[in-house]
Amino acid sequence: MVELSLEKAKSARSSCKQCKSKIEKDEVRVGISISKGGYDETSWYHVSCFAKTKYAGSKDLEELNGYSALSGTEQAAAKKEFEKGAKGAKGKAKAKKGSKSESDEPESEEDSGKGKKGSKKGAAKKGGSGGALAGYTAAEKAKYEKFYQEALELNVAAIKSALKKNGMTQNGNKEEIASRMADCQTLGTLPNCSKCGGGRLRFNQKDGTYFCKGYMDDADFVNCSAKYARNEVTRGSWTD
Ligand SMILES: [Zn+2]
Ligand SMILES: [Zn+2]
Repeated sequence: MVELSLEKAKSARSSCKQCKSKIEKDEVRVGISISKGGYDETSWYHVSCFAKTKYAGSKDLEELNGYSALSGTEQAAAKKEFEKGAKGAKGKAKAKKGSKSESDEPESEEDSGKGKKGSKKGAAKKGGSGGALAGYTAAEKAKYEKFYQEALELNVAAIKSALKKNGMTQNGNKEEIASRMADCQTLGTLPNCSKCGGGRLRFNQKDGTYFCKGYMDDADFVNCSAKYARNEVTRGSWTD
């Protein structure tokens, strides 16, 4: 059994299991507790470092124990750190392996984050007339785009509660969750993966296929790389 928690560090004595550097007192940290033969062993992580672990995909930050005890500012800061870590995870994990002085390099990380965001946005705009949404038919695309604009008018909490009501994941930034909501309103809710049984399918808007990335089963992350063609997946119905 794995428990994930979020809290302000009570002292400056813990260090991050991922990057090995110190976690400052009052810095928000993530604890991963694993039950081993009757006692819990907890490892601590910087929020951005936690985002790079295999546990990060299993739960939204908001679902971790202790999240609601943090102040709004701390919650926002933790989310920002998490996104930063998640974005840097791919290229960085390799590049950073072995470098022992992990000063977190905030500048470069921010830069790469911005760069990605920028290019993503650019692509989305360009794809407005095709590419990025090529997985939809013309009629679906029109629907999706209308729903997407409507979702963007809502605040984040409203989008998340709509997703929650429909059993969909709520992680991601506003554009991502608005997009997920609009997609489910257009085509229906996403079912679980029938190959691994636990992963939530994701829709690739570019080509209309579905894929699974696995899920967290107690202590173990179950990896899955199943892919489905569009006609192999039956969606559920969206409840407003
Ligand atoms: Zn760290
Ligand atoms: Zn799966």
